[in-house]
Amino acid sequence: MYTREDILKLAKDNDVRYVRLQFTDMLGTVKNVEIPVTNLHKALDNDVMFDGSSIKGFVRIDEADMYLYPDLNTWLVLEWEKPPFGKVARLICDVYKSDRTPYEADPRFVLKKNLAELKKLGFDKFNVGVEPEFFLFRLDSNGRPTMEFSDMGGYFDLSPIDGSEDVRRDIVLELQKMGFEMEVSHHEVAYGQHEINFHFDNALEACDNIQTFKVLVKNVARRHGYHATFMPKPVQGINGSGMHSNLSISDKAGNNVFYDKDSVNGLSKTALHFIAGVMKHAQSFGLICNPIVNSYKRLVPGYEAPVYIAWSDSNRSTMIRIPAARGKGQRIEVRSVDPSANPYLAMSVLLAAGLDGIRNEITALNPLKKNLFKMSDAERRRMGIKNLPENLKEAIDFFVDSPLMKESLGDELFEKFLEAKVREWDEYKARITPYELEKYLPII
Ligand code: GLU
Ligand code: MG
Ligand code: MG
Repeated sequence: MYTREDILKLAKDNDVRYVRLQFTDMLGTVKNVEIPVTNLHKALDNDVMFDGSSIKGFVRIDEADMYLYPDLNTWLVLEWEKPPFGKVARLICDVYKSDRTPYEADPRFVLKKNLAELKKLGFDKFNVGVEPEFFLFRLDSNGRPTMEFSDMGGYFDLSPIDGSEDVRRDIVLELQKMGFEMEVSHHEVAYGQHEINFHFDNALEACDNIQTFKVLVKNVARRHGYHATFMPKPVQGINGSGMHSNLSISDKAGNNVFYDKDSVNGLSKTALHFIAGVMKHAQSFGLICNPIVNSYKRLVPGYEAPVYIAWSDSNRSTMIRIPAARGKGQRIEVRSVDPSANPYLAMSVLLAAGLDGIRNEITALNPLKKNLFKMSDAERRRMGIKNLPENLKEAIDFFVDSPLMKESLGDELFEKFLEAKVREWDEYKARITPYELEKYLPII
């Protein structure tokens, strides 16, 4: 735990010149207000204001003044930023209203609220480890992204086929300098596609880390002449990018409550109820975990992304898989989440869904032994296996009808998110696509 004095000293000792006060908007974009270090005391007094009306999903014009309350534990010198004017650090902030109460639609606040529910049930921590995937595309001479892959490598390939290994290494080194505990990094299945995993953490820290990770990856890639994108399905016909989320809960003594050494697959009753809750609400939280039109182009058969709501202790065709680790590492892997999701909101709804399962002791269906993609529609229907939403419109419809989504996200965020997504769908559905022109124009 850093104190105010620690931060002032750290800024001085590191010769920091600028401090970015960061927060995340409703759609998951990292925003920041930058102050010269001479104003740091003002930020530490929670006195830096910004205009909330111009931030997506934030307040209306008539109540626009908002305050940033820095979370001192998020102090970080941004080592990858080497501007000519001295070092830059950041503090991640909570957003407060002009009456000095927390802003209910701040995604970080929403996650904290859901974490408090976890404590009410007597648990302690929600552990989150993510596997974000991304593509690297070449930048053109004007610095704009092209659709040209960084390399023609494939899964786990090595140099020189994996031509972008240096970029990935540079990213990993920069992450380490920032205190990230790295797990693995490798080339993914598609050309130009990569995955970098870092150590799991408490949900709040994990989400802060995801946001830092994305900004860093984009910056370091640019330095090498590439554009990094977390778009779920940038290229048709090849794998898209997911953000598999590994989840577990621990109690105050630090025990992983998802583990039971006496069960067949290591899963405790609590874990099974959590799985059942996640499956029950999977259609409703689609809009949060797969929030953009493009998300649904990834969730189609044939590209290692899930389509159906089922779980399995090994098979990767299901939405939930149980990785082989046991004991402390026992966890569930939710494979539907993609990296366009706002992580604070995604972890909020996953937790709320799982806790609903625990609270109501919902029973999980048996784990699936078969490859779902090899089963017929009728067979799946007979087994009661439902589909994830097929497009943004379906996701919107499931979301609207879900009391759990409204409760876990809070009324204001729920309404605003919905409004933004309905607008996005309306915009998209009126578009004439190349598909239609190719297919119909010549013959109709
Ligand atoms: N890229 C795949 C996806 O869209 C996942 C591949 C993997 O298993 O890591 O989820
Ligand atoms: Mg992967
Ligand atoms: Mg995975």
